[in-house]
Amino acid sequence: MSEERMEFKTELKQMMDIIIHSLYSHKEIFLRELISNASDAIGKIRFDSLTDTSLTEGDDDFKIKIIPDKEANTITISDNGCGMNKETIIENLGTIARSGTKAFIEQMKQAKQAQQNGSVDLIGQFGVGFYSSFMVAEKVEVISKPAKGEQGVRWISSGEESFTVEDVEKDSRGTDIILHIREECKEYLEGWQLRSIIKKFSDFVEYPVVLFTTLEKEEDGEKKIETNEEVINSQQAIWLRARNEIKDEEYAEFYKHISHDFNDPLKTIHYSAEGSQEFKALLFIPKQKPMDFFMRDGKRGVQLYVNRVFITDECDKILPPYLEFIKGVVDSSDLPLNVSREMLQEDRQLLKIRKAVLSKVFAELTTMHEKEYENYLKFWKEFGPILKSGITTDYENKDKLADLLLFQSTRTEKPEESDNSDYITLAQYIEAMPEEQEEIYYMIAESRAMVENSPYMEQFKAKGYEVLVMTDPVDEILMQALPEYKGKKFKAIDRGELEVEKETETEKEQKEKENKDLVSFFKETLGDDVKEVRLSNRLKESPACVVGLEGQYGAQMERLMKEMGADTIKREAVLELNPEHEAIKTMRSKIEANPKDAVLAEYARLIFDGAMIAAGEKIKDPGAMLKRFASLIN
Ligand code: ADP
Repeated sequence: MSEERMEFKTELKQMMDIIIHSLYSHKEIFLRELISNASDAIGKIRFDSLTDTSLTEGDDDFKIKIIPDKEANTITISDNGCGMNKETIIENLGTIARSGTKAFIEQMKQAKQAQQNGSVDLIGQFGVGFYSSFMVAEKVEVISKPAKGEQGVRWISSGEESFTVEDVEKDSRGTDIILHIREECKEYLEGWQLRSIIKKFSDFVEYPVVLFTTLEKEEDGEKKIETNEEVINSQQAIWLRARNEIKDEEYAEFYKHISHDFNDPLKTIHYSAEGSQEFKALLFIPKQKPMDFFMRDGKRGVQLYVNRVFITDECDKILPPYLEFIKGVVDSSDLPLNVSREMLQEDRQLLKIRKAVLSKVFAELTTMHEKEYENYLKFWKEFGPILKSGITTDYENKDKLADLLLFQSTRTEKPEESDNSDYITLAQYIEAMPEEQEEIYYMIAESRAMVENSPYMEQFKAKGYEVLVMTDPVDEILMQALPEYKGKKFKAIDRGELEVEKETETEKEQKEKENKDLVSFFKETLGDDVKEVRLSNRLKESPACVVGLEGQYGAQMERLMKEMGADTIKREAVLELNPEHEAIKTMRSKIEANPKDAVLAEYARLIFDGAMIAAGEKIKDPGAMLKRFASLIN
């Protein structure tokens, strides 16, 4: 059949354009990416052959060959992995853009505008994979054939608009990638160069990476060319080695290899579990979230091996989905090798392993918090919101996660006062509570200043009570999911009824009687705009405030939900009046003297609108408020 020409998907065209024209340094990663693809492909066929040995019959000596050819100016990367047929090659190398591609393009544009040289790290984070070959090649040929005696296929492209595919004959299973090297990249044809790149980036690859080099020899006056095959990588499963024999650099290289990150990890966790479940785990916490973190599909999590055979890296097999930023390997000798990926979810042994790994992660984070606070802060700033979201989904581990939370409060040092802004844990908050304080006070707002200057803080300031400041978008759902900690209830200082200053029943009744007309005047004037009007127990200097109902979402959440295009439920406000405030006292006497005085309704409206604004809420008719002001001045 003849050759077919096809267009790349738009995002891929844009991405290749960037790869070819904007990335000048660290071009050598093309090799890491292609070797990693080859190793994945071998892993796949090897896994499938566990249940169907015929798949690899006669060709189970797995290896990845790297063959430079200086005459032809090509480097061939050849594997005997699962291969691709015409349909899958078109899909994989041309029409399907991975989830990270769009984000990659966006980030590159921004980096360019900012004139940063951040491009390399981006490549690392997105793992643009196969397409990185266009950094060094002006033309790429892929010849592939899948396992079951199917037709071979050839794919060719120069990485611009389009690619071609056609049927070809290929003898063996697997994929050959032939890179036609650019003039300015000829150095990569040198054996010593390739050797050092493979050693550096792919030493841990499970299968032998064999470098083919040629040597010219003179024998009896005749020139002869001799081919030399050399296995470059140690293939050592680093996780099986003893901790004290592994250098930090080795851990870091392995981390980069599995994560496609360019930075070193923030934390390495390597241990060997003994007892009822024996397994080795090597886990890494990255310094940063990958750029495509919030995109769900195609995510890879911790890799599961059984006796060094790769089984799966589906993200939720080992750690819960919210911890998918943790990379690494778990290798067990207790699991059956031929278990299907679907069955894994129910496997009891695996369930135990998952539990053990998760406890270890929590324990390490706790130790980090206690002993390496600066590092923990780095971790917290990057991943704190993710732990919080974990509380909303992982009911079983809610308490352990809550132990790890950090908060700023109205007492902690302010961020602008120190580089490492200070945080407290919930346990520390409780520890510092005065004896008569019963609840954990918090307020959700856009900023710490908004909390500190809000009318709700007045009594708390006077009493010296500490209030947790919550400014993360997830805090609202966190508080819905975590009603209490160690027996102490959480209490939003801007919602529901609050009794900071204790009053006797008679005092209360007396006050209510005195202000009865005032309260009903406000309620009548404001009508349906308020759910209730009542006397406040939380104010000192402000005349009034609006509070939400207990358990109701706050203003912050409403804004977020609107931004996300979600429908919001109408939130109801309660207006609280401060009977000790001069302005409120004046109103009270005026209402008693002449409730029909038209100016009183205007006052009531102004107080309500002002209280709404102080609460970070929108007011119904801002224009009318301005007119009211003007007429009062007149
Ligand atoms: P990634 O490997 O991160 O998924 P790539 O762009 O590098 O992304 O590759 C896209 C897809 O092409 C792979 O997911 C895989 O299905 C297929 N592929 C790439 N290289 C090979 C190979 N050597 N053998 C078989 N399939 C491959």
